[in-house]
Amino acid sequence: MEEIIIKVPEGKVLVSDARCPNGHSLMNPQKLMSGKPAVTCENRLRRKTGLIHFNPYYGIFEYESELILKPGDIVDLSCPECGVRLEVEELCSVCHVNLFALHLSNGGEVRACPMVGCHNHKLILVDLDAQFAAYYNDERRPKM
Ligand SMILES: [Zn+2]
Ligand SMILES: [Zn+2]
Repeated sequence: MEEIIIKVPEGKVLVSDARCPNGHSLMNPQKLMSGKPAVTCENRLRRKTGLIHFNPYYGIFEYESELILKPGDIVDLSCPECGVRLEVEELCSVCHVNLFALHLSNGGEVRACPMVGCHNHKLILVDLDAQFAAYYNDERRPKM
């Protein structure tokens, strides 16, 4: 497949349907961030387990973690429902650790680096029409 790079301003694209590879929703209506359901994963670090909530706006690196995170920590994320790990084969081009993926509807993915402090991430859209329309807030959608 061909790759197209689209630049979007931070905080304009809302991830509203992130799932684990087994199809469980990671969206958490009980935990709002910026007024929207957070993306909630289970996190393992130093033999402890706790939930981590991510701001669902793409490009906003805000999280709340039950475990204390320090810069340079590498989080190990999994689905709170089935425990499947979210790690993928692809390595971060900056830190060379495996990225993790949130699965979106229609085959898209958000991939991001699990190293605390690294902001390397990407949004992969397969069905551009459907997905870009779905993830861009209506009132903020650019004229194309
Ligand atoms: Zn799952
Ligand atoms: Zn990285």
